[in-house]
Amino acid sequence: MTASLLLLYICAALVLQLAVGGGVAVWRLRRIAPGTAVGPGEGRPETIGDAWPGWREFRVARRNIEDAGATQCSFHLMAVDGGMLPPFKPGQFLTVRLHVANPGTGIPGGSAMVTRCYSLSDRPRPEAYRITVKRVVAPPDRATVPPGGASAHLLDRVRENDVIEIRCPAGQFFLDPDPLIPAVLISGGIGITPMMSILHWCLDEQPDRVIYLFHGVRNGREHAFKATLEELAASHRNFHLSIVYSRPNPDDVQGRDFQHTGHVDVDLLRRILPRGKQGFYVCGPPAMMESLVPALRAWGIADEDIHFEAFGPASVRSTIGASPEAVLVGEDQLEIAFRRSGRTLRWDGRDASLLAFAERHGVPIDTGCRSGSCGSCETRLLAGRVQYPQKPDHVITAGTCLLCVGTPASHLLLDA
Ligand SMILES: Cc1cc2nc3c(=O)[nH]c(=O)nc-3n(C[C@H](O)[C@H](O)[C@H](O)COP(=O)(O)OP(=O)(O)OC[C@H]3O[C@@H](n4cnc5c(N)ncnc54)[C@H](O)[C@@H]3O)c2cc1C
Repeated sequence: MTASLLLLYICAALVLQLAVGGGVAVWRLRRIAPGTAVGPGEGRPETIGDAWPGWREFRVARRNIEDAGATQCSFHLMAVDGGMLPPFKPGQFLTVRLHVANPGTGIPGGSAMVTRCYSLSDRPRPEAYRITVKRVVAPPDRATVPPGGASAHLLDRVRENDVIEIRCPAGQFFLDPDPLIPAVLISGGIGITPMMSILHWCLDEQPDRVIYLFHGVRNGREHAFKATLEELAASHRNFHLSIVYSRPNPDDVQGRDFQHTGHVDVDLLRRILPRGKQGFYVCGPPAMMESLVPALRAWGIADEDIHFEAFGPASVRSTIGASPEAVLVGEDQLEIAFRRSGRTLRWDGRDASLLAFAERHGVPIDTGCRSGSCGSCETRLLAGRVQYPQKPDHVITAGTCLLCVGTPASHLLLDA
């Protein structure tokens, strides 16, 4: 072999090595993309991959009823444009826009665009997203009010092949990707949806990671994903499932359908969880959030290890990411001016948010999640400062403010 041929072989080997190395690096980056940022506040925006701007049309490819009582339905959604879907972090949600007929207006034939958030309930897949929606009924003490508009519309009217509009995955509730930290998932009712996404991703991508799921539900009729959860627990030795029924039916069998009665609380966690660092992920109805999150803190779990998502107006006070701003002027002296409505009103501190304040005074504002997630109430801030007792999920555009979770930090001029 001549020296120049040998040199050619060496160069070719080097080029091949570089190409393979580069390819592997790109593949690994794509595989670990779900969950590369950790915890609230670390890196914004919290969407990943090729997120699309604004609304994109999705076709309902499949519907699946998930519980015996038929109150919860999954929707498998594929992009109408046929494109691949960007990955997301397990735990994140989609924002959905629907044209809902008579959405609780009481006006016969009336309809409106309604915006709502729904957690992704499966692991990221390039071809389809899945959300799971629970029918929301009227509050028991207010039988005369209409049932939930968007959830009823989705369950009763949206069929396979129908098209709905969706904003790209977002949210700051997602799994810490460190496989060495056991994940303790705690859900109540439809709060199971982000846990299903976290669970599926974890079992596929990090099969050695220890996962506990404590899921509270009323009884077997409302127990969504029952068979799937049981199969996953039977086939993964690191996945520990505890189902807790608060009001079991006569045909629900303890030990077969559920393990505990009552509610998921710290006493139960203490009995089952081993000692050591764990990441806690909580999503459930207001009563669960209001009791469990403070109880975890009282138990000694550090704030950085508690991650939670509320599906409605935020019910848990967070010390993480709280606005450091103080109200500089006496609360009852703040003037809130709505430019387009031509109203100037005095903030008297009675309302939890600027949205509630505007609604009480009849100033029309677009709303969606009412919890800082969807961005529907984002409004141009023409003068003044707005503070956020809890850091919102939605990434607020410069020069605007989010009325549903904001309160005034000074006099305000709003473009509403
Ligand atoms: C980040 C996030 C993720 C979420 N993920 C999920 C999920 O995975 N699955 C899911 O099912 N939900 C999820 N939600 C909740 C979801 O966004 C909706 O809030 C839910 O579907 C209810 O919307 P709706 O339009 O059906 O009810 P709404 O029409 O908003 O009604 C809500 C309640 O108000 C009552 N009501 C209606 N009109 C009146 C009135 N005039 N006076 C008094 N009460 C009235 C209704 O009876 C109902 O009880 C999530 C929310 C957030 C913020």
